[in-house]
Amino acid sequence: MPDRPLLIPFRSSLLPQIFCDTVVVGSGVAGLRTSIALADRSDVILLAKDALDLSNTSWAQGGIAAALSPEDTFEGHVADTLEAGAGLCEPEAVRTLVEQGADEVRRLLTWGMRVDRDAAGAPKLGLEGGHHHHRILHTDGDATGTELARCLIERARQAARLRIFDRCFALDIVVDTRGGSRRAAGMLTWHPRHGLQILWARSIVLATGGCGQLWRETSNPRVATGDGVAMAWRAGAMLADLEFMQFHPTTLYVAGAPRHLISEAVRGEGAQLVDRQGRSVMEGVHELGPLATRDIVSRAIIHHLARTGESHVLLDARAMGGDGFRSRFPGLARMLAGYGLDAGRDLVPVHPAAHYFVGGVRTDIDGRTDLPGLYACGEAAATGVHGANRLASNSLLEGLVFGARVAAAIEADDAAQAGPFAIVHEVETTERGELDLSDIRSSLRSAMWRNIGIARVGARMQDVLGMFDFWNRYALERVFDAPDGWELQNMLTLGRLITQAALARTESRGTHARGDFPDTADALRCHLLWRRGAPAPIRAEVGALGTLSSIT
Ligand SMILES: Cc1cc2nc3c(=O)[nH]c(=O)nc-3n(C[C@H](O)[C@H](O)[C@H](O)COP(=O)(O)OP(=O)(O)OC[C@H]3O[C@@H](n4cnc5c(N)ncnc54)[C@H](O)[C@@H]3O)c2cc1C
Repeated sequence: MPDRPLLIPFRSSLLPQIFCDTVVVGSGVAGLRTSIALADRSDVILLAKDALDLSNTSWAQGGIAAALSPEDTFEGHVADTLEAGAGLCEPEAVRTLVEQGADEVRRLLTWGMRVDRDAAGAPKLGLEGGHHHHRILHTDGDATGTELARCLIERARQAARLRIFDRCFALDIVVDTRGGSRRAAGMLTWHPRHGLQILWARSIVLATGGCGQLWRETSNPRVATGDGVAMAWRAGAMLADLEFMQFHPTTLYVAGAPRHLISEAVRGEGAQLVDRQGRSVMEGVHELGPLATRDIVSRAIIHHLARTGESHVLLDARAMGGDGFRSRFPGLARMLAGYGLDAGRDLVPVHPAAHYFVGGVRTDIDGRTDLPGLYACGEAAATGVHGANRLASNSLLEGLVFGARVAAAIEADDAAQAGPFAIVHEVETTERGELDLSDIRSSLRSAMWRNIGIARVGARMQDVLGMFDFWNRYALERVFDAPDGWELQNMLTLGRLITQAALARTESRGTHARGDFPDTADALRCHLLWRRGAPAPIRAEVGALGTLSSIT
């Protein structure tokens, strides 16, 4: 893979330069929570590459998990998270998520987030796959993310020292290499009106979300292209657990429609998965039936489709009745009506899709990466909290908890401003043929879906690695001048790394299922870490992922 540390050539002296204490990249739950915590006491710039509310966070449906019920316990939530994580969860991160998470959710309620409540006024707690207790808070049934984003955006707008730059694309982290050490010192950005700019800061936070757009079938919005993880790689930060992408079992499968998520909560309310002959897909597969963890249900669907030759399975929620479904899931009911479907009357065609990126930029429990000055939180980060598979509704919680912890770490670290300094980054460009960006993007997404998807086999992944090497020879060497080109370069970088990681894990565990290595191997009960320039993955034992000194 070409080894360029920055996507484009530039001279800092020719660019507008802006100063602040912290740049937060990403306006989802993680970036907003970090910004809210910091911006009363220091100058923060929050970036979003599109509208502020276009994020995985806004699209979240099912809810936020928290052990709030008097009958529930932290131990129960921890145990369910560890079980889903298939041996790779970092226990300290999980306990922190669960315990601090309950406080974070209570704080959200005091900030005015609306949640569905029972007759006595207490938050109604739903059930989702992998949870053995009712602990999922939700809003208007299935609009939790929209309400969470509204609440946090409103709160952020009140912060005294926060500047929000929406539709502003972050290209690369500016690294200070003077004096022989390395430190994140700024962010190179591009805005359609202001062009290229350098934002100098004492700390940089990557809260750029996931990368579902790398797969042809995905529940994620178009902004989820893995930019933050790719730029951390270019900056030399360590990445972890890249082979683990969670596939959601039930997205709408209607020709021409986006893969709208049909929340797990629908199965929590008793909906069944059947095929066209009415046979149950999950019978005999797992004791929790359609509420088993997502990897189990997704694999069962894919195997069922391979056996029957069908293109999709069906979700049967008819027992809820049309009115029951509409009152519990009003947003979903409206979305389905747009395709002529009524869940009280019709079977809903569904299919798995890429949903949540478990891997990301490796951090300690406070969101510090191994590049001083650079922090990461939310879906872009790999704290080890989800192990090899994320428990449903734990990721909004993750954004809240680790967003707050990153802010606390930044205040504790109290770093000095490293910039400004002069940068001249030159890139040798050669004459090259025309390139159809949308064509290469869709080839990449198809290759990832067919070969680095729910069922993986070494020989086919090796072919995909070869394809990436070929694409990267001519696409990564180029210089683009707009976000579609930079996103493609990030997708090519991260796609190759994910493929490499999936090949390196010669076992099946959590979301990562290999036909040629169907068993879980004790010897691979470790995280695989990747850093630019290192010829092979570095192994970190469970318990050591966040301990920077033990593996750097
Ligand atoms: C359909 C759907 C339903 C879900 N339901 C649930 C649920 O019920 N419960 C749950 O816990 N989780 C759910 N999830 C997962 C959860 O929503 C995400 O994991 C979580 O919201 C991620 O938050 P985040 O802050 O890390 O990133 P995001 O919310 O994805 O935000 C990423 C931000 O980064 C910005 N960004 C990215 N790249 C750049 C760049 N180059 N320059 C500038 N800005 C950039 C984007 O513009 C965006 O603002 C769901 C996800 C989806 C897609």
